[in-house]
Amino acid sequence: MTKRDFYEILGVPRTANSDQIKKAFRSKARHLHPDNMDSGDESAFKELAAAYEVLSDDNKRALYDRYGHDGLAGAAGGFDGVDLGAFADLSEIFSTFFGGGRGGGGRRSTVERGSDLKLELRLEFSEAIFGTERKISIKRLEACTVCTGTGAQSGSQPVRCTTCNGAGQIRQATQTLLGQFMQILTCPNCEGEGTRIEKACTVCKGKAQVRTQRDLEIKIPAGIDHGARLRIPHAGDHGRRNGPPGDVYVLITVNDHAKFVREGQTIHLQQPISFAMAALGGEMIVDTVDGEKPLRVPPGTQTGTILPLKGHGAPQLNSPNLRGDQLVHLIVETPTKLTSEQKRLLEKFADSRGDKLSAPKFKRPDTASSANSKPSPGKSSSIKNPSGKGSSGKADSSLIDKIADVFKPKEGASEN
Ligand SMILES: [Zn+2]
Ligand SMILES: [Zn+2]
Repeated sequence: MTKRDFYEILGVPRTANSDQIKKAFRSKARHLHPDNMDSGDESAFKELAAAYEVLSDDNKRALYDRYGHDGLAGAAGGFDGVDLGAFADLSEIFSTFFGGGRGGGGRRSTVERGSDLKLELRLEFSEAIFGTERKISIKRLEACTVCTGTGAQSGSQPVRCTTCNGAGQIRQATQTLLGQFMQILTCPNCEGEGTRIEKACTVCKGKAQVRTQRDLEIKIPAGIDHGARLRIPHAGDHGRRNGPPGDVYVLITVNDHAKFVREGQTIHLQQPISFAMAALGGEMIVDTVDGEKPLRVPPGTQTGTILPLKGHGAPQLNSPNLRGDQLVHLIVETPTKLTSEQKRLLEKFADSRGDKLSAPKFKRPDTASSANSKPSPGKSSSIKNPSGKGSSGKADSSLIDKIADVFKPKEGASEN
């Protein structure tokens, strides 16, 4: 960075006294200040401030006079890459210049982004899985068509604001240590519009915007889940004074399904199977979100067994081809009504396995299931009725329990 001579920057002779230097700085600072829309120049202003910082300080000025810029390098750290924050004693001026009211660089800063709109959308279970298209109705703020967004009654025009003379901003004098400085503020009378409405449009009441009902076609992506939030960019309230529109957020709720329970990309289904199927194995038809599908049940299937149906779960959001699985939770159903024929067959079956269906009077009824060839299989039935075990009152239902025990899992089924 080539350094200009400080006296040259301030435009004063080397013999200038401190009053002359101060005066020169004030006048140039006003001219070069970045908030000055006509002649503002931030880098020139910083350079000016740096020059003034030195020449207004007797010690620094003496160093500068003797050694030039080099003389300051050690003492003041030099002025390469001027840092505004370094000028502590100028801080008041800088806060006047750069403080609060500077938004938008002094230009009209009242453009407003439109508000976001939120709404809820309820989907059926399968709509969330496969995605869908929906029409939603929103009421958003748009420019009033009657006054074409001016807010003024037809025939009349917005008139120039007299406070700011149409500029939308006003200059306000602020007294500082170094004299008076101008601050540029948004006009409080017209809020930066530069114009005022004398006869308000009767439709929008001068607000220039009206709430308008709009139907939007939205695409619900496959795999969306309960609680998801869809953003529709730029579909919200239009911004005032040509500001950008807000967004629409759609909060997704998904109805429960009578059979399926979704957990992320996995779909769970509880599927009852007959105990003959559980014992013998076979093939059955189960429901999936893709329709009925065959499911092979292996022989000796226990209640609580989970069989997967690959690729019949929910798709990954935004990758509809990546499907999760459906998990079929099998529940072995014990028949509650038996014909005498069925009863006879089951008794025969029990007999063939050596299952005892009645217990000796003074022994625990558990022993019946010990026919299951293991020393302590009483567990599964004791889960069912841990306390009332000893009572022999309900002979019939306990008989069914015992038959069911034959088909029950040894290590208790996880859930269900
Ligand atoms: Zn209007
Ligand atoms: Zn005004």
